Amino acid sequence: MGEKDLSNFFKTYLEKEPIFINKQVLQLNYTPEAIPHREEQINYLAGVLAPVLRLDKPSNLFIYGKTGTGKTLSAKYVTNQLLKIAVEKDILLKIVYVNCKLKRVADTEYRLIAHIAGEFGKEIPPTGLPTDEVYKLFIEAINQNKENKKIIILVLDEIDQLVKRVGDQLLYNLTRLSSELKNIEISIIGISNDLLFMDNVDSRVRSSLCEEEALFPPYNAIQIQDILRQRSKICFKEGVLDDGVIEKCAAHAAREHGDARRALELLRVAGELAERKNKVKISMEDIDEAEEKIERDKVVDVVHTQPKQFQLTLLSILTLVEQNKKPLVTGDLYDVYKDYCLKVGLKPITQRRLSDIIAEFDMLGIIRAKVISKGRYGRTREIRLAIPPSTVENIKSVLKESLNL
Ligand code: ADP
Ligand code: MG
Repeated sequence: MGEKDLSNFFKTYLEKEPIFINKQVLQLNYTPEAIPHREEQINYLAGVLAPVLRLDKPSNLFIYGKTGTGKTLSAKYVTNQLLKIAVEKDILLKIVYVNCKLKRVADTEYRLIAHIAGEFGKEIPPTGLPTDEVYKLFIEAINQNKENKKIIILVLDEIDQLVKRVGDQLLYNLTRLSSELKNIEISIIGISNDLLFMDNVDSRVRSSLCEEEALFPPYNAIQIQDILRQRSKICFKEGVLDDGVIEKCAAHAAREHGDARRALELLRVAGELAERKNKVKISMEDIDEAEEKIERDKVVDVVHTQPKQFQLTLLSILTLVEQNKKPLVTGDLYDVYKDYCLKVGLKPITQRRLSDIIAEFDMLGIIRAKVISKGRYGRTREIRLAIPPSTVENIKSVLKESLNL
């Protein structure tokens, strides 16, 4: 393409009617005006936190539910509203929100405590102090906070990620803080995407953190439609969506455990694809394509970050899935896997270790592996794909390229 063509391309692009009026609205960090289908949960959270307004310490609260069920959104909404009223009424409330998924703030106990101290204006060096000392500085920071806050609500979002990395002793320490604070109350809101998280936490910590509990159930397809329609109104030009597009997005996301995030992402990517094709409308096919693109990107990401043995395992699975009609079992897989190892000159890992890798792919949502008992022949895994079959070829070629095959 010459210089002239390119400048023409950009000019035509600008003259085109855009599909989006405001794409921001479909981004994950956008806060919608209203939060449909979470009234019950929002009222419950508000009820738990309201005592703040009478200067009483609210109960600790544990919020849990699968991803994309509106936990983060609802918790932020309620705490923001609460803070607004508190400011009006001169109530000395401080809300500290920590996204524990972010390694830079929460990959160690030290870092997390230093981060929260930072919220109170205390600089703690990022490494080098003994943990006791960090806690001492942290407690000092809270006790002497310049704004003279009396009630602190500490929101630990994706608390399951934090505990996976640093263990639950940290939570114990946090729940015991109050005894060291002077006239300051601290309440903790823990939020988890992992429904079973609390089952594995020390029972003292559990009873302290779960004084109140709120479960966020998955959305059903109709509820997701409402959420999508509400956003579409502000993000797309009128009439851009073909009939059935919203329903299709919603149905897809409902299949994936009612994940609103997933539904919004699907709609955004479909819009981008349609726009790139110079279309003026988003059609059902764009949704299919978007789904494929999202899945492919997800798997490609995983492929690039996993070691060679993972890549070989996945390649073996995909090779066999293509050839077979019935579900795979681990035994068949091992032979194909060993062949590939030979080709790339890597030593095969044991069948047991291969099973572990398969379990990880299951966790990543790339395959579904069901353990089945074979009586005295032991156990095996039955493997099915959890990604659209249409993406298989593409992922295989990414894998082969990465493995130099
Ligand atoms: P979770 O924290 O449970 O994983 P989020 O609160 O982050 O889920 O929600 C995921 C995405 O879906 C966000 O972009 C959020 O704005 C949107 N969302 C979730 N529930 C609703 C709802 N009831 N109304 C409007 N948007 C919602
Ligand atoms: Mg969240």
